[in-house]
Amino acid sequence: MIIILKNNAEKVQVEKLRQDMEARGMIIHESRGQETTLWGLVGDTSQINEDQLMSNKAVEAVRRIQEPYKAANRKFHPEDSVVDIGGKKIGGGHFQVIAGPCSIETEAQITEVAMSVKNSGAGLLRGGAFKPRTSPYAFQGLHDEGLKMLLEAKKATGLPVVTELMSPAHIELFEDVDMIQIGTRNMQNFELLKEVGKLKTPVLLKRGMANTLDELLMSAEYIMAGGNENVILCERGIRTFEPSMRNTLDLSAIPMLKKKSHLPVVVDPSHASGIRFMVRPLALAAIAAGADGLMIEVHNNPEKALCDGPQSLYMDEFDRLMVEIRKTEAFFAELNG
Ligand code: PEP
Ligand code: MN
Repeated sequence: MIIILKNNAEKVQVEKLRQDMEARGMIIHESRGQETTLWGLVGDTSQINEDQLMSNKAVEAVRRIQEPYKAANRKFHPEDSVVDIGGKKIGGGHFQVIAGPCSIETEAQITEVAMSVKNSGAGLLRGGAFKPRTSPYAFQGLHDEGLKMLLEAKKATGLPVVTELMSPAHIELFEDVDMIQIGTRNMQNFELLKEVGKLKTPVLLKRGMANTLDELLMSAEYIMAGGNENVILCERGIRTFEPSMRNTLDLSAIPMLKKKSHLPVVVDPSHASGIRFMVRPLALAAIAAGADGLMIEVHNNPEKALCDGPQSLYMDEFDRLMVEIRKTEAFFAELNG
């Protein structure tokens, strides 16, 4: 339910209404715009009488929300959300590029890639220490040792870091991580979502490879309902009938997610295609479609990468792509005013 407050509502009345709503067990998400202030109410709103609310002097209008996602709904929060990841803002006109290898392999590897992507202009460093692999015989990541290497690279470059959490059992190892990634295979691991919902650390929530946009938003809702509103959505390609690419990038997801939700949307063209030459066109297309950021895999020696080498950009290739990303981003920022 949404309550739109009158512009000239008296403070005392607003406070009384707030207390009344909270006493009935409602959680209020306040959104103060230029013109109006609105409250998104989360809780069992079936017990609230709309006519009674309308007769309150502080209330301009009351609307019920049909969608099952509330906190993530743009109707609740008309302005774009801006999430701060270790000092780097994303959303609401702030664009970020997250770059780095699929997995952390050695300290020298992650530090070399980190330095390089930083010099090219990436705002955040990625690298997996816990890897969700289809085969149990494939490289699973360096776990806590890998996280230490990632934090060393963070120290060396000053770049905030993003890395995947696969189990609630590992959560205390992630204390110094700037953004926690929930991978496509865990988008509906509800116990994991509830655990990251208890934190304040930003969460990069990747769309399940066979999940709808509303299911993605319901997963975001799990995190937000726990009190963590720092959620960033990520479109990383979905399974279709087309076998030429690893996945099919759903570009339509970008404008649709931004219509449905106020949360920032990042696109991962690396996993979406699985093929190096496709990363550039998909990255630029994602900017044109309105993405707030990109996540790109970059490796210092892709042929020797322990994971996702075929889709990883060479460092010099990423450097050239960053020039085009900046230009494209500036072009569309001006075009869209
Ligand atoms: C990754 O980012 O390396 C990854 C495993 O991504 P996804 O969960 O989208 O496959
Ligand atoms: Mn990968």
